[in-house]
Amino acid sequence: MTVTTRFAPSPTGHLHVGNVRTALHNWLWARRYGGRFLLRIDDTDRERSKEAYVDAIRADLAWLGLDIDGEERQSDRFALYEAEFDKLKASGRVYACYETPEELDIRRKILLSRGLPPVYERKAEGAPAPEGVAPHWRFRLDHDAQIEWTDMVRGPQHFEPKTMSDPVVRRADGSWLYLLPSVIDDIAMGITHVVRGEDHVSNTAAQIQMFAALDASPPEFAHEALLVGNEGKLSKRLGSLGMDSLRDAGIEPIALAALLARLGTSDPVEPVTSLAPLIAGIDFARFGRAPARFDEAELALLNQKILHHSDYPALALRLPAAITAARWNAIRPNLITVAEAADWVAVFDGPFTAPPPADADERAVRAAAAAALPGIDWGADPWRALTDAVKAATGAKGRALFLPLRRALTGRDHGPDMGDLLPLIAKDQALARLSGS
Ligand code: GLU
Repeated sequence: MTVTTRFAPSPTGHLHVGNVRTALHNWLWARRYGGRFLLRIDDTDRERSKEAYVDAIRADLAWLGLDIDGEERQSDRFALYEAEFDKLKASGRVYACYETPEELDIRRKILLSRGLPPVYERKAEGAPAPEGVAPHWRFRLDHDAQIEWTDMVRGPQHFEPKTMSDPVVRRADGSWLYLLPSVIDDIAMGITHVVRGEDHVSNTAAQIQMFAALDASPPEFAHEALLVGNEGKLSKRLGSLGMDSLRDAGIEPIALAALLARLGTSDPVEPVTSLAPLIAGIDFARFGRAPARFDEAELALLNQKILHHSDYPALALRLPAAITAARWNAIRPNLITVAEAADWVAVFDGPFTAPPPADADERAVRAAAAAALPGIDWGADPWRALTDAVKAATGAKGRALFLPLRRALTGRDHGPDMGDLLPLIAKDQALARLSGS
């Protein structure tokens, strides 16, 4: 059996980090077992689903490097849902209901006031249907069949069907609720593993009986603890934190994937530079039951660490042409985002005006450097030669030697190792900066 997973977003908004985490885990699982990863667009809600969101979902998955092996749309599959629904109707597993929301609410309150669980009360079989009212439809849970499964994250699960309300599967206007079409699709698409948030656990309990009612065995399930913000709550910010804002902040897709693959597991988050080690490491048994904390500051730090390991070829297309492999290697330990590499182009090639010397000592160091520079072989450790010459001429050493030179040559007090950097700065540029011309 080919491992087949699916990511099933509703295109009613942009993906946020929580959805993306679900997508990533489904993808990693499929790739780990050489299986298939499907994108299922859950667009049964015609009013709220928007094509622009479908495009954005595809673009976000592509940005993360999560390739898909197929895309399906629920709105193309209504005929199949209708046929399966008819079968369930014929076998009595779905039945018509006529209560208004107000009636249901009153019954709930009565049951609660009597200390009883507010479970939907079925009408007696054959009760007359009210005239002229279109029914909505519920799935009849089998009260005699225990609901059990071993969840890949949560372990053994048990639900008592008698304590559950028969779920509504179709509205009076004929539109579908999520539960039944999802099961029909999971069967038709050969889904072997459903990975989703723990907010779906009670849906799964009902859906397990739907699989049985449609003569199919259920897939394996992994219900993951939800993602919470740094403050330990389901934050608004987290719910709306989209890929656009992360991209704009200079977050690399691999940094986001590295964090989301491991958050909430007993494994450490590692600064990987490709998805391969994340594929090899995905294991639902290592996910905990406690909510996973997502911290933007942790992501930014991880991003920085990953950049410091990232090799030039992987990023070349996103770097200015002037940033060669050697220049990338020299500057990467000092970058927070890839975009910052552009700031270094002027340091290498100009135009660049050195800041004025702070005092007489600094002026003396620069003058000595400018005098020594023309005789220095730029191909053989020019930084060493330059600092030796300036030291001999002025007696400056340590910080009093290095800092004025760094400032004149790069305009900054901190930065990459000058030994790596100087040979990458054009010699005439270096001379101009030191001579102040
Ligand atoms: N469209 C559903 C959701 O976004 C899919 C849930 C599932 O994975 O089955 O919640």
